[in-house]
Amino acid sequence: MPSKLFDNHGRPITYLRLAVTDRCNLRCFYCMPEEGIRYLPKKQLLTFEEIERLIKIMAPLGISKIRLTGGEPFVRNDLMKLIRSIVGIEGVKDLHITTNGILTTPHLSELKSLGIASVNLSLDTLDRERFKVITRRDEFEKTWATLQSLIENQIPVKINVVVMEGKNIDDILPLVELTRKAAISVRFIEEMPFNGEGNHYTSLRWTYTKIMDYIRAHYPALERLADPPHSTSYNYKVPGYSGDIGVIAAFSRTFCGTCNRIRVKAQGVLKTCLYDDGVLNIRDLMREGKSDAQITERLLHAFNNRPLNGFEAEEKRSSGAPAIESMSTIGG
Ligand code: SAM
Ligand code: SF4
Repeated sequence: MPSKLFDNHGRPITYLRLAVTDRCNLRCFYCMPEEGIRYLPKKQLLTFEEIERLIKIMAPLGISKIRLTGGEPFVRNDLMKLIRSIVGIEGVKDLHITTNGILTTPHLSELKSLGIASVNLSLDTLDRERFKVITRRDEFEKTWATLQSLIENQIPVKINVVVMEGKNIDDILPLVELTRKAAISVRFIEEMPFNGEGNHYTSLRWTYTKIMDYIRAHYPALERLADPPHSTSYNYKVPGYSGDIGVIAAFSRTFCGTCNRIRVKAQGVLKTCLYDDGVLNIRDLMREGKSDAQITERLLHAFNNRPLNGFEAEEKRSSGAPAIESMSTIGG
């Protein structure tokens, strides 16, 4: 279906990433401080009814792909109830989830029967000790079991790997090797500044080019794949392997020209760019009693004032550098 919704730079908007909670059962050091973040009081989170209403407002505008994220989505009570209702909303074609896999396995067969389009699983290392250092929790086995279960259930899976100097460089090749037998995608992501710590380096050692050079040096025959429309990753395959790999220039921001995504944080704040600091509180509009038509008008105004790219969005922030935000409040 052709898009109905275009931003002020002519980019179609079809994809909503929705954080269902800011809470998490891990403490990944690139995402939040060791002591965690100050979680939102529960009454500030969008309720399931508000989330359903939001999607029912957005779907007719052209949002057809939805990703549930967080925080850890499965930490939200009764998440499956929300998922059952979202898959029934007219216009929603693809529902995806990003999860750390700790609480996910018991829900996979129902997710499969509900027609989940894919699961993105965050797994930065294949080594239990390194997992413990990166996530500050000893939960590797559960994430690994979820990966096996996803593969057994034939649910399309992408593994998200944040590439970090001094932490998981030795994992890059073993993670590529996972694609030898399993028809999965492994995507290597540049570390972004959203660590909730308030400070972050401004240049990155493991840029997407360095990651690719490193992989290519070990797999000289690597094949470039055609990137799907609006893909944020550059995609490759080791000839003869079942799966593929990708690299995401999340810090270098090379994909803004085709960005089709918007984000809603757990408290209902709309971000039209990952690097902006929120442009509209949709929850407040709902709780003030605004009608669907009034909310639609405010959404269209926001979509019509989207920054050209992540650099412009970052420059316009009024609340301080991105590092004051934790990715667990944004959803990745
Ligand atoms: N808790 C779930 C998980 O980890 O999959 C979903 C939320 S998490 C914020 C979504 C994605 O953002 C994860 O794949 C995570 O690795 C990624 N992420 C978090 N902080 C990041 C950062 N500073 N730079 C790059 N990616 C980050
Ligand atoms: Fe939690 Fe995901 Fe952030 Fe890790 S990346 S702390 S799993 S929200």
